This record gives sequence, C-alpha cells and structure tokens, in this order.
Amino acid sequence: MAVLPIRALPDPLLRQKAKRVRTIDDSVKKLIGDMIETMHADPGRVGLAAPQVGVSLRVIVIGIPEEEDIVLINPEIVRRSGERSVTEGCLSVPGYYGEIKRAESVTAKGRDPTGKEIRIKANELLAQALEHEIDHLNGVLYIEHLENKDKLYKIEADTTQL
Ligand SMILES: [Zn+2]
Repeated sequence: MAVLPIRALPDPLLRQKAKRVRTIDDSVKKLIGDMIETMHADPGRVGLAAPQVGVSLRVIVIGIPEEEDIVLINPEIVRRSGERSVTEGCLSVPGYYGEIKRAESVTAKGRDPTGKEIRIKANELLAQALEHEIDHLNGVLYIEHLENKDKLYKIEADTTQL
C-alpha cells in the first residue's frame, strides 16, 4: 500500500463524473488499500473519493475516528431526509472551509470490496461524509453548495477534511 498524492483544484479530474467499477479486480483492491492508507496518513482526514487520488472510478472510503473504516464501490444515496447547516472542508480545496446545508440523515447503498451489496443508514458526520464523497464521484465539490461566497472561510486551525 502507498500514500498517494491528493489532487486539488483546479485539477480537471475533480470535475469529471467518475466511471462505475465493473469488476472488483486486483487493481481496484490495490486502489482501495492505497486510499485507506492515504486517508489515515493524516488524522484530520475522514474520507476520500478515488478522483481525489487521480483515479476516475466510483470508489469511496470513510474513516470516522473510533469507528470501522467503510469502503463503498459504486455508491449511491438512495434516501435523504431533513436539512441542517454544517461546516465542511475538503482535501482538494486546501486552506478553506465553508458553511453549507446537508441532509440530517441519508441512506446509501453500494458494494463492499467482496462485491456484496450493503446499505448504510447514517446521520451526523457519517451522513455528511457520504454525501461529500459521493458528490466527488459526480464532479461536485462542497463549494458548489455554498449559498454565497461569504460562507467560505480560510482555515486557521486543523479542521476535519473530507
Ligand atoms: Zn472532498
């Protein structure tokens, strides 16, 4: 496994819609291992989408502190409910965080690395991370959800990065 460099704006790959994974072969398994290692390379990172490490495939990893890592292949949000304001940062938009609206809770589905279909019901940080990482697969960054530019702030201290 290896820690991969993170792509940041204005890298055009971050704006592309990532491709579905057809077969979970060795290259996809290696990618997942590298993504997990890259995510854990810094304790402030709680999630990563494959386009952020330069691979345009629908794969995300999430590592909430004190919880088991989640890997989702071809993930989709199948249900959203409620709305709340959150502060959010992104490894691919270094130096900033913003205030945006996210769902209170979401249900996501996708496949695990063995190919088994899984569903995750989430709220709080996990719901936010699922929405954020799945947005990445559609070429969407959190800054697109800003109501206005006044809600984007420069980072002063360490904050959670997705
Ligand atoms: Zn991000």
